[in-house]
Amino acid sequence: MRIYISCDMEGTAGVCSWNQCDPENRDEYPIYRRYMTQEVRAAIEGAREGGATEFLINDSHWSMRNLLWEELPDDVRVVSGAPKPHSMAERIDDGVDAVFLTGYHAKGGDGDGVLAHTFSDETVHRVTVNGTECSEALLVSALAGAHDVPVVLITGDRRIVDETLRALPWATGVAVKDAIGFNAVNSLTPSAAQAAIRTGAREAVASIARAKPFTFTSPVEVVLETVRVENCDYIELMPGFERIAGRSVRFTAPDYATAYRAFVAAVRLGGAANVRA
Ligand SMILES: [Zn+2]
Repeated sequence: MRIYISCDMEGTAGVCSWNQCDPENRDEYPIYRRYMTQEVRAAIEGAREGGATEFLINDSHWSMRNLLWEELPDDVRVVSGAPKPHSMAERIDDGVDAVFLTGYHAKGGDGDGVLAHTFSDETVHRVTVNGTECSEALLVSALAGAHDVPVVLITGDRRIVDETLRALPWATGVAVKDAIGFNAVNSLTPSAAQAAIRTGAREAVASIARAKPFTFTSPVEVVLETVRVENCDYIELMPGFERIAGRSVRFTAPDYATAYRAFVAAVRLGGAANVRA
């Protein structure tokens, strides 16, 4: 049984600040990248106890070069580095039986989420797919679903875990912390969080048989609300993208996989406007 793990960092136990997640930060980042890696390792260990045998891990945060190789078992593969065409979901179509999302966080615009954002806090304010407001977790879950693969584990802050379980009620959720504000948490310790993730991963593997792929119906309509007006100045240049407000573009795609790729491209293109002219 082959498990795909997309691991983010802002939803790691203890994390409450960009500084802790910023690879340029020499003080706090080295500490928290270790906790991120240890949470992934805990998920692997729990899944193995449940019968999983193979693991493909996608480092899904910032530079996507966060995981500490020496903290991982030797028999896993890791997708590392950026940019990747499918970003947080790269290689999710690589013949896996189920998906884990670890270290995930509340979506952009959520008032009660720690470090709440969606893909890029500088470019994306909000994104809806077929009218449903989407977190990174839901966007990735739908790409897994497009390949007929279910998401069975979500770990991170309580806001994202609860929200994801409403959309994916068959999944196992492990909330490692509660947001007090954008930059404050009430958190489990890293080691207690890792123990909970290990247990959750074991349960998640046991649930694969009754889990379902999460999908959006086709055609797929995406509305992207950006942070700045100038982000949309660039995005609307792409064929098929319609400017519907100062900070909003809309596009439709024949299927979700195409929509997801267009969304990734739009975020990158819109981000080019964040460099001050
Ligand atoms: Zn993220």
